[in-house]
This record gives sequence, structure tokens and C-alpha cells, in this order.
Amino acid sequence: MKPGRQKSDSCTSFLESGNPAFMAAIDGEADETTLEYLRTHPEYAHEIERMRELQTRLRIRLFRLFCPSSDMLRDYQLGLLTEEQHQAIAEHVALCPHCAAELGLLTTCS
Ligand SMILES: [Zn+2]
Repeated sequence: MKPGRQKSDSCTSFLESGNPAFMAAIDGEADETTLEYLRTHPEYAHEIERMRELQTRLRIRLFRLFCPSSDMLRDYQLGLLTEEQHQAIAEHVALCPHCAAELGLLTTCS
């Protein structure tokens, strides 16, 4: 039986993107059952590696896509923004660990 699936739908592919076991394998978080399955099905290793590379490329492309620039964060920290801009960045920083970390650095360095 394929990990992450019930016996009744064993005709669906392990490589299906909705299969949590496949997704976990891509993220390097596969459980022991899945790891054992993959050891006996080495043909899936290439596809998992391919998806992992795709995920990395996407992550790089999308990283901080919706974040304010470093200049904006600096101006925010120095209190140089309008009330509206300040509020928008405050809301973003509250939800974004990347900007919160950058802001933390700016605060430490100033
Ligand atoms: Zn951000």
C-alpha cells in the first residue's frame, strides 16, 4: 500500500501532488513508512528531487515579493513615513518574520 493513501484508492499515484506522503518527502519530512516505501521504489527519487528543486526556485522567486524595500523599513524605523505608510508597514511587519528580523537589525545598528 502506498503511504498517505487508503487501500481503496491505491490506483492513484504516489507522485500525486495532493498526497501528503509525497509532499512530506519533498520537504524532507517523510515518516518511516514513506522512507521505507521510497527505498523499495527508487524510481520516485528523481521526481522528488525535481520537485524539491522547483520548490527552491519558487521560494527564491517569491521571497519577499510583497515586502517593503529596505529603504522603506529604514524610513519606517526613523519615523519618516506618512501615517498611512507607517500603519501599512506596521501591519506587514507584524505578520512577516523576514521584515521583523530586518527591522530588528536596523534597530540594533542605529
Ligand atoms: Zn516582509
